[in-house]
Amino acid sequence: MDSYDLHDRTAVITGAASGMGAATAELLAAGGARVALLARRLDRLQHLADKIQADGGTALPVAVDVTDPAAVASAAARVADVFGDPDLLVNAAGVMLPNPITDDRADEWSRMIDTNLTGTLHVIRAFLPALRATAAAGRTADLVTVSSISAHVVFPNYAVYAATKAAVTHLATSLRSELGPQSVRVTNVEPGLTATELGGHIDNAELSAQLDGMFRMLPALSATDVADLIAYTTSRPRHVNLRQAILLPTQQA
Ligand code: NDP
Repeated sequence: MDSYDLHDRTAVITGAASGMGAATAELLAAGGARVALLARRLDRLQHLADKIQADGGTALPVAVDVTDPAAVASAAARVADVFGDPDLLVNAAGVMLPNPITDDRADEWSRMIDTNLTGTLHVIRAFLPALRATAAAGRTADLVTVSSISAHVVFPNYAVYAATKAAVTHLATSLRSELGPQSVRVTNVEPGLTATELGGHIDNAELSAQLDGMFRMLPALSATDVADLIAYTTSRPRHVNLRQAILLPTQQA
């Protein structure tokens, strides 16, 4: 895997307990960025922070539930205390809970909307002042969202998940028109099938088996493949904004 120059950058990564968030934190740290690791499972964050530090990087684990705006505000204050203003935000926290719409799983709908969309908004709200201040001071500032190919392609039984991801894609497109003129880059990454823990929360045996079948059928992306794209784009010169990227396994239709 290539390494990218991210010295003097301070990154906040949500969803850093596993999957794409954890891989992104490792790669950004390998490029020299200080990384704040946000998710709910502190043991995972601590383990990753220890690994990054053993490899010569700087990491701060911060346990937070992104659905709780007060907790997100406290997390932002903690990051600012330890690192100062962050200039790179990666929103990777997310949940995917498919079920037929007729199953009436309002509990899952709320979890997905609260985490994938409203949680992303809470995080943006908490960290955007620092990104804007960084940009105003003439330095590079990045806001990265992790949406999904499901923002564009229909998968039966994934309607609410897809709706949250379509919302994130549209949010990023709209935010770019507001924040680009302020020199805050907005990048929306839309991965396809990626080997992570995401499918582990599916409670429908048939849909869980269907997802397992997809992983058997084609070589999926790794979390590091997605992290590589995020590290690449955030390390471009300040005037270059790769605004949207669909990253698919070669064999995914
Ligand atoms: P993982 O399940 O491995 O990672 C999700 C992360 O989100 C975990 O670190 C989890 O940590 C964190 N998280 C979940 N809920 C919350 C919460 N309420 N507050 C804070 N953190 C939370 O899956 P991925 O790495 O695959 O997922 C990353 C993103 O990529 C998601 O937004 C997903 O929708 C998207 N995506 C994934 C694809 C795939 O095929 N895997 C394809 C396209 C997009 P913890 O439980 O400790 O809080």
